[in-house]
Amino acid sequence: MQGGLAAWDDAQIPLYSEGFLRSASVFEGVKGYWRHDGSEFALLALQAHYERLCRSARLLHLPFEHSFDEFAGACSELVEALLVPERDLWLRPTVIATEGHWGLDTVTDLVITAYTLAQERPEPIDVGFSSWQRASDLVLPARIKSPANYQTGRLARIEGRRFGYSEMIMRNGYGRIAEATGACVVMVRDGQVITPPPSEGCLESITIDVIELMCAELEIPFLRRPVEYTELQIADELFLAGTLAELVPVRRVESFALPEESPVLAALSDCFWDVVRDVRQVDGVRLTSVPIKPA
Ligand code: PMP
Repeated sequence: MQGGLAAWDDAQIPLYSEGFLRSASVFEGVKGYWRHDGSEFALLALQAHYERLCRSARLLHLPFEHSFDEFAGACSELVEALLVPERDLWLRPTVIATEGHWGLDTVTDLVITAYTLAQERPEPIDVGFSSWQRASDLVLPARIKSPANYQTGRLARIEGRRFGYSEMIMRNGYGRIAEATGACVVMVRDGQVITPPPSEGCLESITIDVIELMCAELEIPFLRRPVEYTELQIADELFLAGTLAELVPVRRVESFALPEESPVLAALSDCFWDVVRDVRQVDGVRLTSVPIKPA
């Protein structure tokens, strides 16, 4: 933050800032992976995350002038400081309003936090449908990745916990599928990978773009189109996709059990893990290496 590294206990955000008072901030979640042999560490789709951060900031009128190289340099600096062998990292770059009110004289800071994660593939989960709806573009645009946008997801998770669901699927004002609280929804029907477009009320997901590129590589048909509620109940395969979530198999949607076999998801998951561990390359999917200190 403020252009340099800060110890956790010394990091301060002004209490009277618009970032704190009105949730005037936008953020990204970026995942970094160790190469399969532990020789390198790289951030997945960093440029795409930078570009989405810029778009979110512009839509919320938060000045953000850093170039991609400055942004990537700041991420690298934090990775170098926190990286430990055999644990991956999740970074949260945030552009937060530290001065100015109601959009006047706004000053921002780029604050990046991170934590380490075990190198594990996600386990299958059961999901429910939330009674909370994703807001429309005229209410709270889903394409702005702002903490304000996560209030509905928070309510959905609280609701889901009562029924034993760790993730909930939110629908839009038309009752169609929007997204989960921290990931996009992807189904497979008749061999086709199908996911709702952002105009249905989901984030412009970078993992979905990666899935699209992997589908092209694996010659699996990929389609963005509105998805109805009942389609998820009769899907051949269902999974959630996001940077932190990665590719999470869904075993059951409320009382509907999905088929036990999920060959398309298995092929995509194997490809995803091979790509992030640098075992194979897929056209268009980029990993940005971070220099690591000698042990
Ligand atoms: N929707 C929501 C609400 C999310 O928080 C995320 C995770 N960032 C996603 C979708 C997936 O987006 P991405 O693949 O870019 O991480």
